[in-house]
Amino acid sequence: MSQSRQPIVIGNWKMNGLEASAGELNAMMAAAAGNSACKVMVCPPTTLIAGFAAKAAGSKVAIGAQDCHDAVSGAHTGDISAEMMADAGAAAIIVGHSERRADHGEADSLVCSKAEAAHRAGLVAIICVGETEAQRDAGQAEDIIGGQLEGSLPAEITAENTIIAYEPVWAIGTGRTPTLEDIEAMHSFIRGKVQALRGDVALGIRLLYGGSVKPGNAKEILGIEDVDGGLVGGASLKAEDFAGIFGVFS
Ligand code: PEP
Repeated sequence: MSQSRQPIVIGNWKMNGLEASAGELNAMMAAAAGNSACKVMVCPPTTLIAGFAAKAAGSKVAIGAQDCHDAVSGAHTGDISAEMMADAGAAAIIVGHSERRADHGEADSLVCSKAEAAHRAGLVAIICVGETEAQRDAGQAEDIIGGQLEGSLPAEITAENTIIAYEPVWAIGTGRTPTLEDIEAMHSFIRGKVQALRGDVALGIRLLYGGSVKPGNAKEILGIEDVDGGLVGGASLKAEDFAGIFGVFS
């Protein structure tokens, strides 16, 4: 983690959480209150964004969204635009999560359009990339990640409007993680690739690791060079676990 890139730990609640989950948010805000070493964000399901944003206003916890449509508005039943997420109080939008790539067939070009939509709405795009286990076993991990970056990154990115999350698909929700050496090597590759594609802006962009981060492994994973924080799924649902992860930065 570089001194010039403030770390951020982001919780992705996926399709979990009801109004009754506000107690967890309250406990997360209390735990984050004394932490000035890292930023903390919770991305609840869309139904909770407005309520959580109101509750978290003025706290150290920002609220984000998990996806958006790439258009501003229109005949897209059931979809929600980046502008609507901003209107509800979101500060950022996750785009290109592997579950959306797999469940909804989202290709790199659509991920790029969604990232552009987040920027258009004045929000941070959290762009996810990651290889499958078969791709890693075949020695293709860097090719896959490199290709996803080529296709998913908008032309204009800044250190302020873009975060990249490396999430090996096989590590998400499985309890398995790459070795520390593999994470370090991939993050170094990603930074170099982004620098080759977009120039020195890459040096300021935060690169997060995601995939089975838990309180027990957070210190070693989030301490790796070029890992500027984490994107956390399952362990972000309970305040005690989530605080045990972002607390490694305090
Ligand atoms: C995720 O889905 O973004 C994720 C990292 O999940 P988990 O932490 O549960 O592996």
